[in-house]
Amino acid sequence: MEVDLAVVGAGPAGLAAAREVARRGATVAVFDEHPVTGGRLRCQLHPAGRGWSSGRPKAEELAEAARAAGARLLTETSVWGLFPRNGRGHGGRPGPGPGGWVLQCTGWHTGPVTARTVLVATGATEGALPVPGWTLPGVITAGAAQVLANVHRVLPGRRVLVVGLDPLGVAVARSLALAGAEVVGVAQAPPGPASGRRGVPARALADLAGSVAGGSLLPPPLRLAARGLAREGLAGFALRRLPARPVKRWGIPFYLRQAVTELRGTGQVTEARLEPVSPDGRLADGKTLWLVVDAVCLSGGLHPLIELVAAAGARLACVPELGGRVPVTGPDFQTTLEGVYVAGGAAGVEGADVAAAQGTLAGLAIAETLGRISRAEAGGLKQRARLAVKLARRQAPITFHPRIHAGLRRLRACWHET
Ligand SMILES: Cc1cc2nc3c(=O)[nH]c(=O)nc-3n(C[C@H](O)[C@H](O)[C@H](O)COP(=O)(O)OP(=O)(O)OC[C@H]3O[C@@H](n4cnc5c(N)ncnc54)[C@H](O)[C@@H]3O)c2cc1C
Repeated sequence: MEVDLAVVGAGPAGLAAAREVARRGATVAVFDEHPVTGGRLRCQLHPAGRGWSSGRPKAEELAEAARAAGARLLTETSVWGLFPRNGRGHGGRPGPGPGGWVLQCTGWHTGPVTARTVLVATGATEGALPVPGWTLPGVITAGAAQVLANVHRVLPGRRVLVVGLDPLGVAVARSLALAGAEVVGVAQAPPGPASGRRGVPARALADLAGSVAGGSLLPPPLRLAARGLAREGLAGFALRRLPARPVKRWGIPFYLRQAVTELRGTGQVTEARLEPVSPDGRLADGKTLWLVVDAVCLSGGLHPLIELVAAAGARLACVPELGGRVPVTGPDFQTTLEGVYVAGGAAGVEGADVAAAQGTLAGLAIAETLGRISRAEAGGLKQRARLAVKLARRQAPITFHPRIHAGLRRLRACWHET
């Protein structure tokens, strides 16, 4: 197969880019390892006004628009390699591919695909949150709970505990409660190096308060003070003054001063141990609680999924504010590899609307590279697309990393250094 643009990932970023490029007459193929298109957007459920907004119809709309524009959507196909078409770069290492790129695929479509340009829109992945007992049946990640409840309409359990005070943990707790589960609590992550920032309650609370919708995600009495709490010192101060009992919001108890330190059960998780923890992440004196559960959801944070582009030799930067290691990208989401672009979660973890807006911008830049729109026309369109990214960021119902702007500044500086 030979195409002008190969897109890896049929989430909102990949689909929006495919639509923009295909509608201008270029040949576009989108590959996704899942049987259905839409990526993580399909699993999302967020409060909107007095009701809830589901990602599923938005995902279907994006796929339909890409298809109608002429893009081929190939599901159940994993892309496992990205290689320059005309051999190797300097010193035998992979380098820029002026002759285009070869993608190696397996699954429904197996074999090489040659592409003049490539967009890597592989999204994000969940971090691990190890707790003793986490291998017991019934213990799943927050993302898995989203798939079960919001896509397959299956509850992971009747009495569910969510571990990890972060936007995804709170969103999952709310959607499980909406679906009819008894959410017995949202508790702090276990302290320790494996949990990182999320194992330090003052940092976890400050990060939550600092996210776009953080104020609304906080339980009272903290909600009104959300702005101040975004500073770690003040979050610690507030935690010290809170009573030891959980605070309730949406009928869900939030254990802000207790961390989960052990999960137990025979053949299946049945109990969770919660121990008092200090704001700076040390186990403290006080009452140990045992909660009876039949499911536990671990929220270990989200990180960009960048292996494909990293193995191809793109320059990377460590930007914790964007979720970890990300490809160094320019203003049009171009990487340091000629003809290779990255957008959406793989470029830094944000919400679905931001990913789609970034995909549109990358798509316009790719259409320009392919000579499908003139430089002058592309200039105006890209300017509007950049504003749309900013607007989507401002209006996002959820953010995962509170200091996105600092991260973007850092990434810009890395690009200028290249
Ligand atoms: C567990 C989890 C929960 C999330 N919850 C929310 C939420 O509630 N609200 C929100 O706004 N955002 C959420 N996000 C953030 C999410 O990343 C964005 O909302 C948005 O979906 C990003 O769009 P994307 O197109 O970049 O990636 P995605 O929507 O993740 O799509 C990427 C696609 O790439 C495919 N893919 C990856 N690697 C390959 C490969 N090698 N070959 C073929 N296909 C591949 C995947 O199958 C996937 O379909 C969540 C992310 C995760 C990981």
